[in-house]
Amino acid sequence: MKEYDVIVVGGGIHGAGVLQAAAAAGYSCLLIERRGLASGTSSRSSKLIHGGLRYLESGQFALVRESLRERAIHLRIAADLVELKPFFIPVYRTTRRRPWQLKLGLGMYALLGGFSAATRFGTVPRREWAALDGLDTQGLEAVIRYHDAQTDDAELTRAVVRSAQHLGGEVAMPANFRDAALRDAGVDVTFERNAITIEARARVLVNAAGPWATRVARAVRPPIAVPDVELVQGAHIVLPMQVTAGIYYVESPADGRAVFVMPWQGATLVGTTETPYAGDPDKVHPLPEEEDYLLAVAAHYFPALRPMNRTHIVRRFAGLRVLPAASQSAFDRSRETIFTTDRDPRPRVLCIYGGKLTGWRAAAEHVLSRITPSLGPKSRRAATDQLILRRT
Ligand SMILES: Cc1cc2nc3c(=O)[nH]c(=O)nc-3n(C[C@H](O)[C@H](O)[C@H](O)COP(=O)(O)OP(=O)(O)OC[C@H]3O[C@@H](n4cnc5c(N)ncnc54)[C@H](O)[C@@H]3O)c2cc1C
Repeated sequence: MKEYDVIVVGGGIHGAGVLQAAAAAGYSCLLIERRGLASGTSSRSSKLIHGGLRYLESGQFALVRESLRERAIHLRIAADLVELKPFFIPVYRTTRRRPWQLKLGLGMYALLGGFSAATRFGTVPRREWAALDGLDTQGLEAVIRYHDAQTDDAELTRAVVRSAQHLGGEVAMPANFRDAALRDAGVDVTFERNAITIEARARVLVNAAGPWATRVARAVRPPIAVPDVELVQGAHIVLPMQVTAGIYYVESPADGRAVFVMPWQGATLVGTTETPYAGDPDKVHPLPEEEDYLLAVAAHYFPALRPMNRTHIVRRFAGLRVLPAASQSAFDRSRETIFTTDRDPRPRVLCIYGGKLTGWRAAAEHVLSRITPSLGPKSRRAATDQLILRRT
């Protein structure tokens, strides 16, 4: 039986990050991915590497500070993949968030981002409104401009895995994790590859299976604690129109939720929604009412889209957020990553629930710090905030 320091289940951004962090720290590691890299949530996000301006409203300051720090690191190490973009927030007579509130929020955003050049914000002069991709100017009072970053989430995930492989990390794909048996110090893992059952031993198993994490955790024997989480679906649609000036951060006229209208591969990506999901994570897909909601938001702000209906949608996808179970709306719930272990201080299994694309590197470093007591010291090969990530 082959032995590793770390076996990771899941080839999304978190699994990729943990594989890279473990390899960079000098550990032997294997990632098991059932389908393809980023085939789950990590290709179905809003593709933003952002501080999360709206999380200020729910008081998640630590998350915003960490995300802005990670954004700055991305702009340095992944310049090929992550691009700073202007974001526009149009404020109409009827908009709930007033310009002073937005400026207050952006002032705090700048403070948490260390007042770097990328946190500058201001108002778009009225004479420049015509350059805003046909944004409706009727009743428009102000347009606030700030900056955040956009990426290709799947490309980013693949780049992190390549970086990990370069440092010696191994990948088994397609390979389906089946179960794990805890030993005194470590874990025996069973997975299937090409219809062959393979067993491998690890000091630590990291469960980075995203929306499937509960399923993976339940396949550990003897049973480990599984936190109370809920899945919340988010849909995106791609429309055959080009926005080029930047990313529009608009408020849904129906419920006040924030929705992004973004340039994406020569078209326009609109998202997202928050729909509780209780089904099989493999079967998630945008619902007709989610598509109608997103079409209505986009058409409300861009009159050129008003004749469009569902038949005009050129692509659609939905992903699943993993959020702590709670009674408040999904929109207001914590986006902090949840880490659980079978025991402390020498865990044999660590599970990652939720989190952000933006925070993958910080999450992976946190995982490493939690599992290092089980792994023992090794001489480090590299630092993850220095490893350059490139598009192929
Ligand atoms: C609609 C939406 C929009 C979002 N937008 C943003 C955004 O703009 N910016 C941001 O920072 N964050 C965003 N997020 C959050 C971010 O996308 C996720 O936190 C992140 O992609 C989760 O990655 P993951 O690796 O945990 O899970 P996943 O990407 O889902 O990866 C899990 C992997 O595990 C694999 N797997 C499952 N079971 C097994 C098994 N038995 N054996 C082997 N492999 C298995 C799956 O195939 C999958 O590839 C968004 C999330 C959603 C849902």
